[in-house]
Parts: sequence; C-alpha cells; structure tokens
Amino acid sequence: MPLYRDEAVVLRVHKLGEADRIVTLLTRRHGRVRAVGKGVRRTSSRFGARLEPGSHIDVQLYSRLPEGQAAPGGRRGLDVVQQTESIDPFGARLAGDYSRWTAASAICETAERLTDEGEPALRLYLLVVGALRALVAREHDPGLILDAFLIRSMANAGWEPALLECAKCSRPGPHVAFNVPAGGAVCETCRPPGSARPQPTSVALMAALLAGDWGVADASDPTSRRESSGLIAAHLQWHLERGLRSLPLVDRA
Ligand SMILES: [Zn+2]
Repeated sequence: MPLYRDEAVVLRVHKLGEADRIVTLLTRRHGRVRAVGKGVRRTSSRFGARLEPGSHIDVQLYSRLPEGQAAPGGRRGLDVVQQTESIDPFGARLAGDYSRWTAASAICETAERLTDEGEPALRLYLLVVGALRALVAREHDPGLILDAFLIRSMANAGWEPALLECAKCSRPGPHVAFNVPAGGAVCETCRPPGSARPQPTSVALMAALLAGDWGVADASDPTSRRESSGLIAAHLQWHLERGLRSLPLVDRA
C-alpha cells in the first residue's frame, strides 16, 4: 500500500457516471475490495473488457489508506484500479449458457454476502475460483457445482449443516428428519414440528457435495438433487439477513 497488486475475481460491476465503473472484487490476499475503474466503459479502454463479472484477473490497485486502516465509519472507501491482466475470463466464457451463467452469478453474489470489506478470505476466494473453473470446464452439472460451492462456503463460515449426527443432541444417524432452524438433520426425539423428511439419498448427496465426492454427486438422481438444493438454499438463506436475488434465477434442469 498505497499501491498493491493481487489476484481477484470480479464479483459485481456497476456504472459510475459516463465512462467509469465501480467493481467489487474478491482478492486472494486483501479480501473484498471496491474500486473505481476509470474510463473502462470506453471501447478504447485498455482494461474495460477484463472488468466484467466472473473475470479472474491480476490487478494493481491504488489505495488512499495505509494497509489495515479504515476510513471514518469503518469503510475502506474506494481504491482505484491502475492496471489489470486477464488470468481467465470465466464470466465471458459462460455468457452463452444460461444455466452456467446464473450459477456463476449466484456464486459471486454469495461470495459478496459472506465477506466483509478488507477482511482476508483466502479459503472462500479459492472456493470461488474453483467453482467458476469447474463451471467453465463443464465436467459436472452446474446445479451440483453451485450447491457444492454453497455448502462448502457455509461450512467455511461456521454454518455447516448437521448431516449425519442430530443437530441438537449429536446422536449418530442417519436421521430421517431435517430442520433448517435447528441446524440440519434431527433425531426423532429432538425433531421440531414441521421438519422436512427428505429422502436419505438427498442428505447423502449433501454430504458428498460437502466432501467433494463427485462420484456420488454425478450419479445422483433428479429427486435427490432437487431436495438437496432446496435444503442447501433454505439453510443458506436462514443465515443471511436478506435473500439472494440470483438464487431463484438458477435454471436447474
Ligand atoms: Zn437429537
């Protein structure tokens, strides 16, 4: 600081005046950063095309604040983008594919919601890059890639749902009832009224996504995928103050 370089994923972009943009970045070492990209909307801009949602970039930023210091009110304020190099334009490579693009949007929105400005979040950064790379590689169903990202980032935030043991008394399972406010799977004794009763394969799929067991996840049936994605989304939204705008738009085949 005040000039620093980092790798980042562009989470969000919005217009500022005629030619500038404000970008929200998740950086490898400096956490979430908001910065102004000056002149990036001009067609002649040398870095405009790289500052798009979902782009993985190497970026040089200028900060008016010394490292670790916050502006009055606790915000870091806006840094200024000095230079960018593209590492992989994940977002642009998904643009023609609605299912994968909406999954990428939900990943970026979730990452923004799970981070605080200027707080390093290396593990989440690696989860975001891994999920976007997997979407581009088209090795797995986009809904599964998204759900694996969501359940792992919840675990990273300390909100891992109970899947095998009872969320309340830790009795070993598997248990047939699942209750989001209680924290996940619940035994017959602890089960609050109105608990869901997902198929055992749906809970097993959630455990596979958490563990990165793609053999089990890729072989899962449509009903299990639908149930597990519903429970993962409900568990995430329970922990967030506001719902995610992009999650209902995800096209799940
Ligand atoms: Zn119990």
